[in-house]
Amino acid sequence: NIAKQQRLGFRRFTVGATDDSNARLGLLGDLRRALDAGDEITLHYQPKTALADGALAGVEALARWQHPTKGPISPGAFIPVLEATTLIHRFTDQVLAQALEQARLWLNAGHRIPVAVNISTRSLLDTGFPERLAALLRQTGVPGDQLCIEVTEHSIMSDPNTAIETLHRIRGLGVKTSIDDYGTGYSSMTYLRLLPLDELKIDRSFVQDLSRDPGNRALVASTVELGHNLGLTVVAEGIEDAETLTALRDIGCDLAQGFHLARPMTAETLTRSLARPRALAA
Ligand code: C2E
Ligand code: MG
Ligand code: MG
Ligand code: MG
Repeated sequence: NIAKQQRLGFRRFTVGATDDSNARLGLLGDLRRALDAGDEITLHYQPKTALADGALAGVEALARWQHPTKGPISPGAFIPVLEATTLIHRFTDQVLAQALEQARLWLNAGHRIPVAVNISTRSLLDTGFPERLAALLRQTGVPGDQLCIEVTEHSIMSDPNTAIETLHRIRGLGVKTSIDDYGTGYSSMTYLRLLPLDELKIDRSFVQDLSRDPGNRALVASTVELGHNLGLTVVAEGIEDAETLTALRDIGCDLAQGFHLARPMTAETLTRSLARPRALAA
């Protein structure tokens, strides 16, 4: 009986959807509380390493949420929930404030470590964002060039004209800009040329089996060349083994990031490893 099956199917679907939205609502309430509390969401830092000499070129700040009862929740799980509401702006501001305070601490200790912060689509397209960023830079006294804003190719392509305008304003503050997860978002060569960028990060799906897959190797090599021809620093993310590292060095990629080099870590652990520079070198 098709009608009955459809009814059941429909009911199953709505029950599932309700469970899902209840879970999201629960998470949203917890997130609002976490943003008020201010200490559950912290940042870990993953080194970006220069392929030529193994030097620390900067770090990427990655959000970590320690839920009081559910334990650690990954950014992939909670950022989409925030992104559906205006709470994302409070989150973005808190992450930026934390990252800039850390950059200030490093500068005070004599370390120039540029910090990269990921910005979600909604914050990128928020016309008030560059002004809030300017205020945070003033408050922390961190020079703009010690900060890099990473935005995904997907975010940019969701509204390229607004993104271009915002990226120009961000760069007007001296802040660096990076296109993240490059290669997954169908941006045209025209846009890549128009975008005010300093850095291009090749998505890890192209990087991971680089040393075994000639197709991916060709894609990565031509992306590195394209980036260089546009005057960009090219970063490869997701380096998990020594073979990939060697292949990227041969190709002439500038910077590398991945578990093989260093995992995301607390600022304290990173600061300790600065005393032993070999610990971060390839
Ligand atoms: P992303 O910006 O592309 O960050 C890189 C992600 O790859 C991080 O995951 C990092 O832990 C992971 N990763 C690094 N090296 C390797 C490797 O060798 N192998 C593998 N398999 N993974 C590696 P994470 O921290 O779970 O973050 C996931 C995504 O969530 C980020 O992707 C970024 O888009 C977003 N995200 C993280 N923190 C923030 C934040 O503060 N704000 C916003 N808006 N988004 C954030
Ligand atoms: Mg990123
Ligand atoms: Mg990325
Ligand atoms: Mg990625």
